[in-house]
Amino acid sequence: MKLHMQVLIALGLGLKRNWHIFFGLIAGIFVGAWLHNSENAVLMNVLTFVGQLFIRLIQMVVIPLVISAIIIGITSIGDNKQLGKFGTKMILYYGIITVLAVTIGALLALGFKPGEGAAHYINSETSIGIQAQVETTIEAQKGNVLNLVLGFIPQNPIKSVAEGEMVPIIVFALVFALALAKVGEVNRPIVSFFESVFAATMKVTDWIMYFAAPGVFALTATSVSAFGLDIFGSISEYLLVVLLGFFIQMAIVYPIFLKIFSKASVLMLYAAVAEALMVAFGTASSSATLPLTIACCEKRGISHKVSSFVLPLGATLNMDGTALLQTVAVIFLAQAYGVALTPFLICQIAILAIVASSTCAGIPGAGLITIALVLNGMGLTPEQLVAGFAFLFTIDRILDMFRTMVNVASDTVVATAIADNENEINYDLFNNPEEYKEII
Ligand code: ASP
Repeated sequence: MKLHMQVLIALGLGLKRNWHIFFGLIAGIFVGAWLHNSENAVLMNVLTFVGQLFIRLIQMVVIPLVISAIIIGITSIGDNKQLGKFGTKMILYYGIITVLAVTIGALLALGFKPGEGAAHYINSETSIGIQAQVETTIEAQKGNVLNLVLGFIPQNPIKSVAEGEMVPIIVFALVFALALAKVGEVNRPIVSFFESVFAATMKVTDWIMYFAAPGVFALTATSVSAFGLDIFGSISEYLLVVLLGFFIQMAIVYPIFLKIFSKASVLMLYAAVAEALMVAFGTASSSATLPLTIACCEKRGISHKVSSFVLPLGATLNMDGTALLQTVAVIFLAQAYGVALTPFLICQIAILAIVASSTCAGIPGAGLITIALVLNGMGLTPEQLVAGFAFLFTIDRILDMFRTMVNVASDTVVATAIADNENEINYDLFNNPEEYKEII
């Protein structure tokens, strides 16, 4: 069958398979817009409950999944040389994608200048709660880069697990898994234990996905109801620049990246991971989406070895959508405040955005907390930061949904490229839509 026919069938099947989640998403937008005007408190409470129930259910499996996936991933790669190759390639690929994201963000923001003439938005509607939250964050981050690094090393891994601190959990899991890989056969009981944990958490994910459509519907409706659809008109330039950036990443950068670094077709990949992308949109959390991201990739032929190593690390460290948004947002603020954007300052913003995005947790809103790092680094005063933040926070949820989708998509793009390079992908499954099986 001709490739374009295969792609069409893949997309068609993808839509058919996912129509219930997709329908939930679209219905959520309409119901949210209606709720914004009608203020129906009872319905709002029900929707909030359903959305939270869905998020909590998937969050419930994330920590056992991340730990078991990393341990199985690293011990199955086994020897040091192959592990080094996987690891280096992963850092390189994630790096390329994130550098491209900040470059696109900077070019678009400098070209379209969305910040000019936006000063009146920045000073209006400053909420006291947000001010306090932001001031505390900035205070905590001042001159704090070394402490930030120290914070990545868990003093007590059990406490990190109990408090859901993803980066320290990953650091511990990586070190522990490397040690297990080193000690040889004696690791069998522990590795088998984690294989069982992984299999069971994937099974739970399958069950939770029965609830994906109402969950995504409720989450989308509650987010949209907070601001209504007219938000798109009032701050359209900023929104459009960010959304255009995301579109370029998804429609141009990832396809070219896959073309250069693999034989995989991006459309086949998007069809394969459509569920994960829609859940990423609904939940605005890469971590919460992770179980599904792994399930989609594995069921479509990307080996367990690659997906269980590359995807958990990507869901925590690779946030190119977030980096793009942070770059646009900071340049936007600089333009609105009339700060001169020298080439040096632009490079500084871009580099800080790469660091800030990768220290950001895969949870809703985290990207706007770590943006303080970028703003601080460029020496804006706290008052300016607070006022600017208030504006950014108001509209953040909707952009969070989009950037999380981009973050998750790029994790799967990198996993596909590495799987291709290492002969860890089954192209019969990947390219043959008829082979696709329902995840749920
Ligand atoms: N919500 C994003 C994610 O989970 C992180 C962010 O806030 O940018 O990927």
